[in-house]
Amino acid sequence: MPVLADVNQENLFIGSRWLPANGPMIEVRYPGDNRVVGRVRGAQPADVDTAVAAARASFDRGEWRRTPAEERSALLLRATEILDQQLPELARSMTSELGCTLAFATQHHVPSPLRNMRFYAGLAGTYEYDEKVDDGTNWSLVTREPVGVVAAVTPWNAPLGTPVLKVMPALAAGCSVVLKPSPETPITVQRLAYALQEAGLPEGVFSILPGGAAIGQQLVSHPDVDKVTFTGSTAAGRDIMQRCSGRVARVTLELGGKSAAIVLPDADLDMFARKIMPMAMMLSGQACNAQTRVLVPRSIQGEVEDRLTDAFRRLTVGDPFDEATDIGPLISSTQRDRVQSFLDFATSSGARTLVGGDVPTDREGWFVNPTLISDVDNTSRLAQEEIFGPVLSLIPFDDESEAIHLANASIYGLSGSVWTEDAERGLRIAREIRTGMVHLNGHGLAKGSPFGGYKQSGIGREMGVYGFEPYLETKAIAMGPVVS
Ligand code: NAD
Repeated sequence: MPVLADVNQENLFIGSRWLPANGPMIEVRYPGDNRVVGRVRGAQPADVDTAVAAARASFDRGEWRRTPAEERSALLLRATEILDQQLPELARSMTSELGCTLAFATQHHVPSPLRNMRFYAGLAGTYEYDEKVDDGTNWSLVTREPVGVVAAVTPWNAPLGTPVLKVMPALAAGCSVVLKPSPETPITVQRLAYALQEAGLPEGVFSILPGGAAIGQQLVSHPDVDKVTFTGSTAAGRDIMQRCSGRVARVTLELGGKSAAIVLPDADLDMFARKIMPMAMMLSGQACNAQTRVLVPRSIQGEVEDRLTDAFRRLTVGDPFDEATDIGPLISSTQRDRVQSFLDFATSSGARTLVGGDVPTDREGWFVNPTLISDVDNTSRLAQEEIFGPVLSLIPFDDESEAIHLANASIYGLSGSVWTEDAERGLRIAREIRTGMVHLNGHGLAKGSPFGGYKQSGIGREMGVYGFEPYLETKAIAMGPVVS
């Protein structure tokens, strides 16, 4: 029997303090069998006003933003060290609410946010906030100041990672932050609140408001919020942008994706088949940057199909707490039904389902069998919409220019990959792909690289210094004539 999180959080974290609250309790269910694994206090509209007022007041008082950068850095580092001690508990908590495999949580989904926490804690103290601009006659002090009150809204698929990529750079910059995590996965992030409180974060600076879209809409529309940082669907991103436009609030949007992997005829197909599986199937395919469209030359389509068929057949679907499991459940019955509708569509669309195409009948949770579909038309729903499940589409092409055209024929522009033994050709094609990230032969991005999308995959970037500067405003102060 797996050890599940057993959380009963009756208070809300508002203004850096746990306070009694009256909003509805949110029941969080383990996607593996639909058991309740935790109850967390949800926010109600009055809590949004209280949290934003606390953030506004703390920012205007200036206690945190005027704290010397080295001290902000030291405090955020203390919080990081507190969470560093909790890796096994964080991983179990995450698997309980998200259903990702415990191995994935332990090796990636928890360590990666902890690394990012450490990075932003450090950057708070080393960043050059002031710069001198001198034209020979006059000089200006160009200084970077925190953007103000930040509203952060996050999805369910990275319950710690996405909040960290917003809360930490914003706090590092000196902002006050109100976070609204997804109601599906509000448990693990509570530990971030405890860690920041224990580290000594001043009153008012950070709040967490678990809740649904209505709470999110109220928060992003609040006149006292200076910047909104959102990760989630493109549909919600469009709504948020509109809500922010009236007051010209700053926005960072990390939205959907439908990333293409371009396989060239000279690619090392064994390596491709091995590396594309985690890139497409991580989190059971519930990742924004999942490489779910494989563009394959007709000349080697059969070979690619054989290798991927083999790789798909070897995937084990099952209990995410079990070490042998590759594919855990999807987040909810709604998501499972949505993916099922794509599988049904595939059957009627003329595409060929090579593996899977159905859901396991012997399991209680929200499982979908890993599914490989070939001869997918790039204009079909299968290739144009986010499926967010363990489904890979093969799309044949005749030549390089068609491959580039197909990769770019999408409203999204998040990620992509090129697979070839010819490094120069790979780079040339990577430059033609209209996405924020491209992986040559499945290589990982260097730490500190920007993460984000072109087109309707978003606005702005997260990670590294690119994910810090959006929490700063730039001010030029005319200092007077240059004294020689
Ligand atoms: P979602 O858009 O339904 O919800 C995301 C969050 O926004 C939730 O907290 C939700 O309650 C809230 N929300 C929904 N509508 C809102 C609105 N109009 N105003 C304010 N808040 C609102 O997305 P989801 O189903 O939770 O997550 C899956 C989506 O997230 C996918 O589209 C995926 O591609 C995307 N995503 C993108 C990235 C990225 O970095 N680009 C990373 C992870 C997930």
